[in-house]
Amino acid sequence: MRLSQIKLAGFKSFVDPTVIPIPGNLVGIAGPNGCGKSNVIDAVRWVLGESRATALRGESIQDVIFSGSVSRKPVGRASVELIFDNRLGKLSGQWSAYSEISIKRVIQRDSESAYYINNMHVRRRDITDMFLGTGVSGRGYAIIEQGMISRIIEAKPMELRVFLEEAAGISKYRDRRHETELR
Ligand code: ATP
Ligand code: MG
Repeated sequence: MRLSQIKLAGFKSFVDPTVIPIPGNLVGIAGPNGCGKSNVIDAVRWVLGESRATALRGESIQDVIFSGSVSRKPVGRASVELIFDNRLGKLSGQWSAYSEISIKRVIQRDSESAYYINNMHVRRRDITDMFLGTGVSGRGYAIIEQGMISRIIEAKPMELRVFLEEAAGISKYRDRRHETELR
């Protein structure tokens, strides 16, 4: 699975529909301060189900919606879509047969987020489940942000274990066991 495109509209500073192609395995995003580089990473974390506004550098989850600028009015809707190339077929489960997987999250002001996989309405849970054990999640190790290396180095054994279990692909079994125990 390889992320091949990020499509945004109404998300933070990306008010107009924008397609960011990821043409290779090593891509850099460069630009002046405040141009929206970190917003791209926030978008990826958001679409993967991040629900903590602070992790997205906002105060409320609605802060991801374009809030206006000197020349533009605020908008009422934000959407982010990730396109994954799945030709290598690394995904297991019902989506494994698709060569391309689209994950989308949409939010309107004053309403809950809606999630889609290949344009099918799904639960947030279906998206997190799909990536569980692959390291790709808002809180996994796929996104290494500022300060995270030192947090890992200084982590207590139990905190470190969370990363190791995700890397080893066993966190999904732990999750399911936990759920079974709750029933
Ligand atoms: P730096 O190089 O300083 O890290 P950056 O390229 O990472 O900068 P970002 O933090 O991604 O910049 O973008 C910040 C810009 O996004 C600010 O100008 C801010 O006003 C704008 N922004 C963030 N949220 C919204 C929103 N909801 N509506 C409109 N603009 C927003
Ligand atoms: Mg930044």
